[in-house]
Amino acid sequence: MTRTSSPMLAPAPGPHHGPGAGANIRPLTFYLGTHQPGWLDAAPVPLFISDRRLRSYKTFPRAARLWALDSGGFTELARYGTWDHGPTPAGYARQIRRYHDEIGHLAWAAPQDWMCEPFILAKTGLTVVEHQHRTVASVVQLRDLTDGLPIIPVLQGWTVGDYLRCISLYERAGIDLTAEPLVGVGSVCRRQATTQTGTLLATLHEHGIRRLHGFGVKITGLARSAYLLTSADSTAWSFAARGQPPLPGCGTRHKNCANCPRYAYRWHHRVTASLAAQPGPQLSLFDFPTGFDFPTGGSR
Ligand SMILES: [Zn+2]
Repeated sequence: MTRTSSPMLAPAPGPHHGPGAGANIRPLTFYLGTHQPGWLDAAPVPLFISDRRLRSYKTFPRAARLWALDSGGFTELARYGTWDHGPTPAGYARQIRRYHDEIGHLAWAAPQDWMCEPFILAKTGLTVVEHQHRTVASVVQLRDLTDGLPIIPVLQGWTVGDYLRCISLYERAGIDLTAEPLVGVGSVCRRQATTQTGTLLATLHEHGIRRLHGFGVKITGLARSAYLLTSADSTAWSFAARGQPPLPGCGTRHKNCANCPRYAYRWHHRVTASLAAQPGPQLSLFDFPTGFDFPTGGSR
């Protein structure tokens, strides 16, 4: 894609980007990652659930509100280095159709994508470029197989240059990412420096791709990058809860709150309240209050 730089949004290096023409002025939709599909029918917040958890269910709950589907790609590739042990594209497409029809309120589904973290590449033995080709091919194929269900394109890469090449690959496949309602940004959750993620997101905005979903973003990174994201997901609450005593009132029910909806919804409320309280990117010299710097979660 050739596109001149927007003077309104330079891809500023460092952690604190200024607001640009494409900055999201609405609060982002923050999906709570959970391994518990049973929460769907009553969750007061949007959920992010993996096909790995859902596909064994014979009957499904009806979703109370919007939710999004993860393909489970990170686990699949981290374990096996291939999608060969996962569902076939046709099988995954059939499941997405069922989730859409039977659970309802499916906002979007991730493709069977190929993450580009170095240890994943070591596992698959393939190059970044090959992972990108396969990711784009999955989007094209799943869209074809699901006949218009909302499969989102996901950008994969490791360097910023990789992600820009991935934009071109989508373009060659006939998918204009600037016109998509949502574009996933993969391979960000295990980066050490959240500043790199901010730079990447700002660069994507500069290329006109401004409706972005951050997969498994770090919560501290989320504070800095929220205005560059339309949505994000995190399962970090569960990791945090595992290392803590149960909430008052939970002690008789479980050892810790790693699978506890009370804990998860409270955590979600605190994170979204903190994000809403941020005055905006102009005053982005902030971090979350102590206690919010949880380890990264999510599945990518
Ligand atoms: Zn609990």
